[in-house]
Amino acid sequence: MATPIGNLGDLSPRAIEVLSSVAVVYAEDTRVTRRLWSAFDIHTRLERFDAATTTRKIPEVLSRLAAGDDLALVSDAGVPGVSDPGAPLVAAARDAGFEVSCIPGPSAAVTALAASGLPTYAYYFGGFLPRKEGKRQRVLESLAELNATLIFYESPYRVVKVLEHLARVFPERRGAFARELTKKFEEIRRLPLPELAAELAARETVKGEFVLLVEPPVRP
Ligand code: SAM
Repeated sequence: MATPIGNLGDLSPRAIEVLSSVAVVYAEDTRVTRRLWSAFDIHTRLERFDAATTTRKIPEVLSRLAAGDDLALVSDAGVPGVSDPGAPLVAAARDAGFEVSCIPGPSAAVTALAASGLPTYAYYFGGFLPRKEGKRQRVLESLAELNATLIFYESPYRVVKVLEHLARVFPERRGAFARELTKKFEEIRRLPLPELAAELAARETVKGEFVLLVEPPVRP
């Protein structure tokens, strides 16, 4: 189940109904999800399901499903499994023959793409780029010919470095960043990548959550 990426108003009535009616909600961090519980008066039992406990927890979740319980899975924000824990559990549940469906909602990648003003006819979501520059370079080179808008997630600590790297690899392309989507200080900038990187690098502080985007090699 998708949950808000900042603005609690983005939790749909159907999501609230399902979260309130299942036997257990598995959450990446129960403390984070509890904020939704208080805001929407939800009382469903919460259990942890994060990257570290995935392997151990899968058999437990499957046996609950086998006992006939309806269960939900959420991550801290956005769609579980999208740069978040969850995909192996969905695969295991499907492999075991259980029905799995998704209650859709916000995901930072598509929200950023829609607001960026960059082409949307095709996009490639690359999650988080490798931290090591050499590996990152190889990934970016492998994507150079792809006729799609590239989308990456990045933390505020590395975003300037990664944006500068994108500007070196694709100096002739426009890029965009989307910061703090759906939140009070939401900001979306689209500029030629070298200018975009210089603008962010010149800031005294760089805070918040970022999505980075790069336009395709050829403009339509
Ligand atoms: N599952 C989430 C989704 O569907 O978008 C992504 C989780 S991933 C661990 C967290 C990253 O998503 C952040 O580092 C940032 O790149 C991006 N992100 C999440 N919320 C965001 C927001 N409100 N504004 C901009 N980027 C966001």
